Amino acid sequence: MDAPVDILGLSPDALTAACGQWGQKPFRARQLLRWVHQRGESDFSQMTDLAKEFRTLLADRARIQAPAALRDHTSADGTRKWLLDVGDGNAIETVFIPETSRGTLCVSTQAGCAVHCRFCSTGHQGFSRNLSAHEIIGQLWLALRALERDGIRGRVPVATDDADDDGDGSGQNPQSRLISNVVFMGMGEPLQNYEATLEALRLMLDDNAYGLSRRRVTVSTSGVVPMIDRLRDDCPVALAVSLHAPNDDLRDHLVPLNRKYPLAQLLASCLRYLERAPRDFVTFEYVMLDGVNDSDAHAEQLLECVRRVPCKFNLIPFNPFPSSGLRKSPAERVRRFAQLLSDGGRVTTIRRTRGDDIDAACGQLAGEVQDRTRVAERTRRRVISVVGVQ
Ligand code: SAH
Ligand code: SF4
Repeated sequence: MDAPVDILGLSPDALTAACGQWGQKPFRARQLLRWVHQRGESDFSQMTDLAKEFRTLLADRARIQAPAALRDHTSADGTRKWLLDVGDGNAIETVFIPETSRGTLCVSTQAGCAVHCRFCSTGHQGFSRNLSAHEIIGQLWLALRALERDGIRGRVPVATDDADDDGDGSGQNPQSRLISNVVFMGMGEPLQNYEATLEALRLMLDDNAYGLSRRRVTVSTSGVVPMIDRLRDDCPVALAVSLHAPNDDLRDHLVPLNRKYPLAQLLASCLRYLERAPRDFVTFEYVMLDGVNDSDAHAEQLLECVRRVPCKFNLIPFNPFPSSGLRKSPAERVRRFAQLLSDGGRVTTIRRTRGDDIDAACGQLAGEVQDRTRVAERTRRRVISVVGVQ
C-alpha cells in the first residue's frame, strides 16, 4: 500500500486534487484546510463536519505530521526558539519574535545551505537537504499551536485593525494575529528549494489556511536570479535580498553565488520583481563586517550601485562565529554607515538584537545545531535580528 500523504504541506490546489482522487468535492478540501491549519487539528476522527467514511479514508491514506521539537526555549524578551528534528541527524530552527504591533516567525527552508556565504554559520556547515513543504509549513503550524497553548510573553497582542492594515482581508483569522508576519530568514536558501517554498507560501496566504497578507510574508534570498523571476510570476510576496557588498569583487568573495548571478543581473531582477510585488521596494540586507564592507567608500558605492532600485536597507550586526575569521563592525561604524545611506535618500534600519539569553538568531544559528548538546550547553550571548523587514 502507498505511504500516507502528508497533507500538512499540500497547497490548496493540491489538496483539492487529492480530495478529487478520494471522490470528494472541492469544498471538502476547504473544510480540511480549516481543520488542519486554522484549528490545528491533527486527528481526522475529530473533524466532525466531514462524513464518517471520509474520516476513515483519511485516517488510512493521509497524515498530518509537523517536525518534532527537540528543544523549545523562550527568552526573557519573549523571543521563542524551537529546534526541530527533521530526521537523519538533521535539525532546523524556527524563531518567533514578538513585538508590540506584530508577531514574526522566522522559518527555515533547508537543512544546511549550499551557497556557502563567508559570514554565515549555516553556509559553513554545508548542505544536507531540502525541506519538504510540510516541514516548512509545519514550522508555522507548530509555532501557532505552541503560542495558542502557552500565550505570548513580551508583547501586547496585535490589534485586529493593525493586522489588517493592508485591507486585503488578512487578520480575519484569529490565529494570524498571533503570527502576523513570516520571514524566510532561517536556515537555507528558499529559492534553491523553490517548489516546497512555493507550496508553503500558497498555504500561508490562503484564507482557508493562514490568511497572511502578501506584504507580511518576506522571502529573503542571496540572489538566485531566475527564481526571483519565477516567484514574481508565481506568488509575489515581500522580497529581501542579501546584498552585503557594493561591488562584484567583494560580493563574489562574500556570497559565492554572485559569480553566477552578478550584481547587475541581480538588481535587474529586483526591478522586474517590483513590477508585481505587493510592496514598492526591495529590502537590501547588509551584514556589517569590520574592515571588509563597512567603510564610508563602501556606503557611497552602495548608494551608486542601487540607484535605480526602489529599496530600503537593513544593516545587520554580524554575529561572529570562530571559523569565520570575521569581526563585527563597531556600533559607531554601523551608525555612521546607516547615516550615510539615509543621507543618500534611502530608508535605513539597523537590526535590533533580541533573544540574547536563548542563543537565538535568524539564519545564522543552524550551522551549530548538528551538535545538539553544544546548543544546550552554550551560554555565550547571541543576537537575533528582527527589525527592518515589515
Ligand atoms: N539564505 C537566505 C535566507 C537565510 S539567511 C539569505 O541569505 O538571504 C537570513 C539572513 O541572515 C541573511 O541576510 C544573511 O545574510 C544573514 N546572516 C547569515 N549569517 C549571518 C551572521 N553570521 N551574522 C548576521 N547575519 C547573518
Ligand atoms: Fe545560505 Fe543565506 Fe547563509 Fe548564504 S546567508 S549561506 S544563502 S543561509
